[in-house]
Amino acid sequence: MVIINTIADTRESILWAKQQGKKVVLIPTMGFLHDGHLSMVKAARRQDNGDKEILVVMSIFVNPLQFGPNEDYEKYPRDLTRDASLAEEAGVDLLFAPSVKEMYPAGGSLTAVQVSRITEVLCGASRPGHFEGVATVVTKLFNIVQPHEAYFGQKDYQQVAVIRQMVKDLNMPITIRSFPTVRESDGLALSSRNAYLSSEERQQAPILYRALQEASARITGGEISPDRIKAAIKQRISEESNGKIDYVEIYRADDLSEVEQITVSIVIALAVHFGTTRLIDNIIVEV
Ligand code: AMP
Repeated sequence: MVIINTIADTRESILWAKQQGKKVVLIPTMGFLHDGHLSMVKAARRQDNGDKEILVVMSIFVNPLQFGPNEDYEKYPRDLTRDASLAEEAGVDLLFAPSVKEMYPAGGSLTAVQVSRITEVLCGASRPGHFEGVATVVTKLFNIVQPHEAYFGQKDYQQVAVIRQMVKDLNMPITIRSFPTVRESDGLALSSRNAYLSSEERQQAPILYRALQEASARITGGEISPDRIKAAIKQRISEESNGKIDYVEIYRADDLSEVEQITVSIVIALAVHFGTTRLIDNIIVEV
């Protein structure tokens, strides 16, 4: 595995790989790697059965543009040495780890990519500007790496929807693939932010996924009211934890539009604060 910090060297390395006929897969991350990130590396590696017909590129960049002024940009966990060894072990070929200066030499970006409607709900409503930061940095990464395929996790369901919409609307010649959420054995979705949780918060946090699973079972059992489902999830979380609910919402799984009755496949998505840590999770219920 090579670790590259500059855009110019990354481009050169990727051009060379493409000239060898390799397919380029990009896995964008903010680092502090866990099995959620690494499961996507392994999925990419499995495509070529280890034959190195694919160049697996991972980016590690904590993107200041996608954090609000009172969010955790400064304290977001970073450990490039640890990440590099995990990435190499999982099968990354090229680790692109640029500095903020390399990505934003002027300190920011005068140009932004804005996806409307689907960014106005869920995390987009709670974190103004977040998805503009995400869409802008992902566009930059796509232009730098020019991958054939890019991989994203279902854990950030709205993020995948935003990227798919952007790629479609702007005719970006990239196939987006999304991968299931990897969880701890007690159901808690892996997240770099889990490192912030106190031991008590960590014990309580699995209620999020349990509440989602119970909701899923109620829908499968015939419940069609989004309001009743949302109320039941909120009640469960409030009874079982000190978590402060940011949102619990139900939208159509395919386009994040409103549903009046659960007669189509839906996503139930939630965000809950445990102390200063904001956790998100979701479940798809196929109807
Ligand atoms: P992050 O480093 O948190 O920005 O995440 C980088 C990528 O990994 C995103 O596409 C996430 O959706 C994905 N990801 C994060 N956590 C998980 C998880 N628990 N399971 C699967 N994918 C994940």
